[in-house]
Amino acid sequence: MKCFNHDGVDAVAICKNCNKALCHTCAVDVGNGVACAGDCEPEVRALNELIRRNRTAAQKTGYAYNRNAIICALIALVFGYLSFDAFQAGRTPLLVVTAGSTVIFAMAAFFNYSAAQKFLKGSG
Ligand SMILES: [Zn+2]
Ligand SMILES: [Zn+2]
Repeated sequence: MKCFNHDGVDAVAICKNCNKALCHTCAVDVGNGVACAGDCEPEVRALNELIRRNRTAAQKTGYAYNRNAIICALIALVFGYLSFDAFQAGRTPLLVVTAGSTVIFAMAAFFNYSAAQKFLKGSG
């Protein structure tokens, strides 16, 4: 493959914006990609910036889910303790309520945790 701008010069990269083949002279390394010198360079840099911002947003969402997971896990622990207490006191109606709440909050903690992993994965 030859450079789009220079006939006879071997291309070393493909522009991230317009997908033209570029030689060393024409290609600009913009960090996580290559762009045409001048033309596409600002475009690709802007695109990279956008991706970076989206990643930060996803990371924030991930942290929020993580926080929810911790809160739900703590509530599950409290209900777990209350279940144990109700069980020892032989108060079956209360035990049903507290044990049910333990399961619900434990599940909520699990779903929030897995949602957090989804958002935090690949956003390193
Ligand atoms: Zn280009
Ligand atoms: Zn060239």
